Amino acid sequence: MSAAALAELIRERQPCVVLTGAGVSTESGIPDFRSDTGIWAEVDPFEVASIHAFRRDPDRVWSFYRERIHLLLEAQPNAAHEAIATLERSGLVQAVVTQNIDLLHSRAGSRDVVEVHGSIRSAQCLGCLWSEPADAVLAQLEAAATPSCPQCGEVLKPGVVLFGELLPAAAMERATHLARSARLVLVVGSSLEVWPVAGLPLEARGFAIVNRGPTALDEQALLKVDAGAGETLRAVLDCLEEGLVS
Ligand code: NAD
Repeated sequence: MSAAALAELIRERQPCVVLTGAGVSTESGIPDFRSDTGIWAEVDPFEVASIHAFRRDPDRVWSFYRERIHLLLEAQPNAAHEAIATLERSGLVQAVVTQNIDLLHSRAGSRDVVEVHGSIRSAQCLGCLWSEPADAVLAQLEAAATPSCPQCGEVLKPGVVLFGELLPAAAMERATHLARSARLVLVVGSSLEVWPVAGLPLEARGFAIVNRGPTALDEQALLKVDAGAGETLRAVLDCLEEGLVS
């Protein structure tokens, strides 16, 4: 029933932009951050994932990210990533704005992906701004605790936005523009607690949420589906394909 209602909204309210968070990737075996089994239940984000921690002790931050990068690269896109890519191919989704760093939308076939929290695609040099691709970073990590810049020798920083850092301006500008021109932002798997990304749905002319558990914006959504992302989006595709939505 809610899948049919969501399919109807997607069909009616074009253009539609999808906004995803960690919950879209849990079915790929990647824990989210804030649920009871999330990453921050185990470790303190300010000790391992903040710019202050990186400046104080880059080895510690890299020991966290070394494991994380391996986990993310071994994960496979799930039904939710695939459904979102199918919706884009069929012209019903314009672009995906994601807070995830795992590259799973691109690997599922989504073409227009805006990564507002960076990604594991590369690591950056804070000295000369060199960008080192992930495979070269992993090769360095096999040999040393902390990778360094091949150009100037400075310590590299993971290519993700750490706590205390600004979001990439161009990606946030594009995400805001997409949200403002959308008639529907479809939020999938985000608690909508991390700003400024959590404010993007409010920029659109309407938004719907697929999330297991509450989010900060449930009251203002046109529709909230409290269920798994994979099963819900697969059901939405079925409704659209079976022509249940006019
Ligand atoms: P979050 O942990 O705050 O919220 C995730 C939400 O998804 C929770 O409400 C949870 O109940 C829900 N959820 C979990 N599994 C679900 C499923 N199968 N179907 C539907 N909902 C499900 O994460 P957030 O809102 O994305 O917070 C933003 C931060 O999380 C960002 O900084 C992002 O970079 C980071 N993050 C990314 C990854 C990744 O790249 N895969 C993983 C963890 C965290």
